[in-house]
Amino acid sequence: MLHDTLERPIRDLRISVTDRCNFRCTYCMPKEVFGREYQFLERVELLSYEEIVRLVRIFTALGVEKVRLTGGEPLVRHELPRLVKALSAVPGLRDLTLTTNGRLLPAQAEALQTAGLRRVTVSLDTLDDGLFRAMNDVDVPVQAVLDGIDAAAEVGLDPIKINAVIKRGLNDHTLVDLARHFHGTGHIVRFIEYMDVGTSNGWRLEHVVPAREIIARINAELPVEPIEGNYAGEVARRWRYVDGGGEIGVITSISAPFCGACTRARLSADGQLYTCLFATHGHDLRGALRSGASDEEISTLIASIWRGRDDRYSELRTAEILGRQKVEMSYIGG
Ligand code: SAM
Repeated sequence: MLHDTLERPIRDLRISVTDRCNFRCTYCMPKEVFGREYQFLERVELLSYEEIVRLVRIFTALGVEKVRLTGGEPLVRHELPRLVKALSAVPGLRDLTLTTNGRLLPAQAEALQTAGLRRVTVSLDTLDDGLFRAMNDVDVPVQAVLDGIDAAAEVGLDPIKINAVIKRGLNDHTLVDLARHFHGTGHIVRFIEYMDVGTSNGWRLEHVVPAREIIARINAELPVEPIEGNYAGEVARRWRYVDGGGEIGVITSISAPFCGACTRARLSADGQLYTCLFATHGHDLRGALRSGASDEEISTLIASIWRGRDDRYSELRTAEILGRQKVEMSYIGG
């Protein structure tokens, strides 16, 4: 069994399949940085689907059981269902999921489900249409994402999780509406504390609405009670509506970091392995893949990287680290 220096096994792999996105969310890919001149990765720089599948086979042999496809926006990558189909056949991979902004789900949900996807997470930060259009900064209406969620439900993707990043002064006044909208639908809203990922979003601690405040605001209108986690290392803390209307989650990355139980590795679209969301540098797996290394050699390389892992950025979060040049969420994958 492979463990890092803090005795954490490797269990989850998040794979960014593209650094491009069809949204320009102001807190993630602001137009001032990710505008027309921005140099996205070239196609040849991206890992091919064959390379991704090869790596996933190697990772599962080392202990990875869960893969999440992300980005950028994963659904903008050409023929994503082809990758899903190949990954769903990898032995040892028990859970394959996807995080999307939902815009392209009406067109792709069925093909993804047929290819083997079983569940999905859709990001939606507010139901206020004007605010949502301003936040995604490409004028996509809320209804387009709700249509994506419905399309996913219709083809049987289950559970559907809705990720909502809450930023104080921006969308925090709409969080209870979001909870109310999905109450009783079976979909699980997960409220995420706004995090200091990357360097282009100008993050400040005052922007964070702590999970206890999020819960208190919901509880005042829709009473909730805490429930047990599904498994050790689960990122969301779970709460259920007292009236039986389902559950919600809060992701306490800032107010109660969970580095001690972090079993996640991240692969960027160009094949760099990162051992922390807040890392400043990655390890080049694409170079190994393309220079003819055997599976065994790549496995040894990944194992040595994981064995040396000591990251626990969120538990330390010092001013010195805050000032460092961290990689962007759109590159490393959310
Ligand atoms: N495009 C896809 C999507 O929208 O879900 C996948 C990639 S996106 C980077 C993944 C998630 O990261 C989204 O839910 C997004 O809201 C979240 N995210 C981006 N920047 C964040 C930040 N600073 N703090 C917390 N979550 C963030």
